[in-house]
Amino acid sequence: MSSTTPQIRLFNTLSKSKEDFVPLDANNVRMYVCGPTVYDYAHIGNARPAIVFDVLFRLLRHVYGKEHVTYVRNITDVDDKINARAARDFPQMPLNKAIQQLTGTTQAQYQADMKALGCLAPSIEPRATDHIAEMVDMIEVLIEKKHAYTADGHVLFDVKSFRDGDEVLYGKLARRTLKDMIAGARVEVAPYKRDPMDFVLWKPSANDGPGWQSPWGTGRPGWHIECSAMSKKYLGETFDIHGGGIDLSFPHHENELAQSCCANDTEQMAQIWMHNGFLQIEGNKMSKSEGNFFTVDELLHTKKFGGRKWPGAVLRLAMLMKNYREPIDFSLTRLEEAEKTLQRWKRAMLALGLDFTEANRAEYEKLGPCSKMLAALASDMNMSGVLAELHRHAGGKKRHNAGRLFGSLGLLGVVDFDAMMVWQEQQTDALETKGVDVAHVEASIALRLMALHEKNWAEADRIRDELASKGIQLMDYKDPETGEKRTRWEIRQ
Ligand SMILES: [Zn+2]
Repeated sequence: MSSTTPQIRLFNTLSKSKEDFVPLDANNVRMYVCGPTVYDYAHIGNARPAIVFDVLFRLLRHVYGKEHVTYVRNITDVDDKINARAARDFPQMPLNKAIQQLTGTTQAQYQADMKALGCLAPSIEPRATDHIAEMVDMIEVLIEKKHAYTADGHVLFDVKSFRDGDEVLYGKLARRTLKDMIAGARVEVAPYKRDPMDFVLWKPSANDGPGWQSPWGTGRPGWHIECSAMSKKYLGETFDIHGGGIDLSFPHHENELAQSCCANDTEQMAQIWMHNGFLQIEGNKMSKSEGNFFTVDELLHTKKFGGRKWPGAVLRLAMLMKNYREPIDFSLTRLEEAEKTLQRWKRAMLALGLDFTEANRAEYEKLGPCSKMLAALASDMNMSGVLAELHRHAGGKKRHNAGRLFGSLGLLGVVDFDAMMVWQEQQTDALETKGVDVAHVEASIALRLMALHEKNWAEADRIRDELASKGIQLMDYKDPETGEKRTRWEIRQ
């Protein structure tokens, strides 16, 4: 970590406070985020954790070095919903084949959608069904240590066994007592459970359902054990950050924590537990029956929302225009505002002297974020602070501002060099279709620069006014390397 790098601080759900982030091993910073259950298209609510933790991943890579961060996001490819959907969609196939077909295509779709939203691929994306042996091992350890028991073909986790002396630790993440949890949760009542909160580690398979051999008969793992087994395999018994949506904090994360700490005899599973807030659509809970349910694919490729398609960068920025722990209202107004903002920033970068042509790629791709933006991002991803800095640079006067804006947007994953190059070319094309003669504008600018050089102010003003009458605005700046006077131009909006 360089001396100019700010201390990262993150809100820990476990302690309900912001904490200094100190990795267990700065050479291998480790983060686990619960991934999708692959039976259907990802909806825009599913995109929020993917984007939020992608920004954190990028920040960690920036601070600790790309090769020193491991980000694991799992793929849940065994689930009752998957079985039901596979049987419905592929009725002619044997169920196991149908499940493979469904989960394979859904996983590929998910990865394509997240890429379109600017998310980097995690370091590892383990599939649950490739890790059944690790789950069986962990369940055996839990039984051996008397944290789990078999009953009626199931293996159940004994929540009361997760304790410190007289104190039951189950509920430490949710900060609720067993009594409160039972009252508040929709608990699956089953006669074979010792406690209503005990949850399934392994269950028998239906005759035609997917199943694996185990010491407890043919069956399949419960959902929670997947994350405990896979995070242990790739990140170790204790790692740095565990993330996910707030909807997963209970019971899923509570259960992961209990299983992992009990199986591994550790005090903690992850140092910091992070949760992003809920997402609503136009002020309402998103639901298929309300007709306000939108998949990422629909937003990107169809005109279902607001009568038009939305670019991935706009969807991403709209998501980032709210601090991650707060609930977000995903509305047309928000998307339009994000789009306008992004346009303004892109125009500012060109107007302040950046030129996205191949010759400049190497130089621009080295541009980093400004230190104030980085400090805001490091402060529990304070996006209000980040946005304020971006607006400040966009409103700046110097090429330096444009460089910082580009470097900052690059760190956030909102734009990159290729995106800017394409956009710049489109701007030129658009001007031509608007009837602006680019060659004439460029020639006039060259003549005006010559006039300025010769101190012929009258001629310089005449050219500026002539262009202004056509709606073209000039902005002078100094080339940072040569100190020469240069001019950028744009169409006045
Ligand atoms: Zn999980």
